[in-house]
Amino acid sequence: MGHGAPSVREVLARPAWTRIRLRAVARAPGAGEDERVERSGCLVCQEIDGEVAVPDGLLVDTDTVGAFHRPPWPEPDDDVFLGHLLVCPHRHAADWAALTDDEAAEVGAWVARLSRALKALGATRVYTMSLGHAVDHLHVHLVPRWPETPDDVSWQHVDDYPGARRGEMEAAADLARRVREEL
Ligand SMILES: [Zn+2]
Repeated sequence: MGHGAPSVREVLARPAWTRIRLRAVARAPGAGEDERVERSGCLVCQEIDGEVAVPDGLLVDTDTVGAFHRPPWPEPDDDVFLGHLLVCPHRHAADWAALTDDEAAEVGAWVARLSRALKALGATRVYTMSLGHAVDHLHVHLVPRWPETPDDVSWQHVDDYPGARRGEMEAAADLARRVREEL
């Protein structure tokens, strides 16, 4: 998964009707037409269903949770902050309030495990947030603070200050592989 899949940019350039979501429908046999339409327009669904390329594929792919390294996004960016991970319920649920207790527990457990993996790779802190302004599908951001980050760089700028660890798809895939080895 991931390798050979189209990029986010390529998928979003297609007409919406070509974004067929067979895997999502197979995962949720009870899903009705509304669910299918929601998933077809959702970037997070496309990422965790393997329909757009994420660096080195999914890091976590259980029945409940998908997690991956953020790909370069949004356009016209061609790079991404290295170590920026996303943890999502597979179900197209808008936010924490929309999760069942069991889903919330599993999403939370993977946030903890992936945070430990980033710390094992040297992060001094792992910032977590879920905002939901752009996509109506819960995705928890994990943003590491790498040890070389100057003290005067605030948490909002650990990913974009001059000298921040950023890289293109291949560098993100290398980082994703290192995270996977720590899980
Ligand atoms: Zn979705």
